[in-house]
Amino acid sequence: MRRRVFAANWKMNLVPDEARTLAGEIRRRLDADAGNSAGDREVIIAPAFVALAAVAEAIAQSRIALAAQNMHYAERGAFTGEVSAPMLAAVGVTHVILGHSERRHILGESEDFISRKVEAAIAHRLVPILCVGETREEHDAGRAVEVILRQLHYGFSRLEAGPAARVVIAYEPVWAIGTGRNATPGQAQQAHGAIRASLRDRFGAETAAAVRIIYGGSVNPGNIEALMAQRDVDGVLVGGASLEAESFVRIARAGDNL
Ligand code: PEP
Repeated sequence: MRRRVFAANWKMNLVPDEARTLAGEIRRRLDADAGNSAGDREVIIAPAFVALAAVAEAIAQSRIALAAQNMHYAERGAFTGEVSAPMLAAVGVTHVILGHSERRHILGESEDFISRKVEAAIAHRLVPILCVGETREEHDAGRAVEVILRQLHYGFSRLEAGPAARVVIAYEPVWAIGTGRNATPGQAQQAHGAIRASLRDRFGAETAAAVRIIYGGSVNPGNIEALMAQRDVDGVLVGGASLEAESFVRIARAGDNL
């Protein structure tokens, strides 16, 4: 069975003290669930780089994992302003969000750049959370699946089947991010199903069955249950609703009722 993933993407919000407090509050609430079904889900928090150490302290010895929102593929060197996989690992990071649409579309990251990062994350034993998703225009033109599969193709282009199984894929339609307009559960399932079928063609049934495919885009406590009920929705990546302990914890608990 695939372990469900509930990941919080705090984006460029919260200074270290604020991040420590929110992570501590999430931890307290989730610790109270331990012994129930907490073991079959993975809860991940991705604060800004400067808050990683503070959040690492707040979640130490808990079931919550620490993620970065980005990294460079090189191990070190003349890359002003960048952060490498070994640097992240040294402060307790185990997961890294790569190819988020805000980085693809606002900061101009290319498919090649993203694929190198995925390769480097795997090489350094970080779990990449690879984001894919179509824009509003691509969606309206009926090109969603084509765009997603192209991003997937490049994202996995430097991986063999073994390491590919460790990647978490986040389907995040750009038109649903931060807009309050989420994909319907049926739209999410259609995209996730296409992603899994493509993984099957490329890497075989075993790898395809192992990869977690999560949904992101205006997830909230009101729509989580219907999304999690879809066969190929293995969790969620949450932006806005993860900035409040109560709403993120309600999201992270929602799959328990399945
Ligand atoms: C995101 O940016 O990864 C995201 C899903 O944001 P939101 O939940 O705010 O739409």
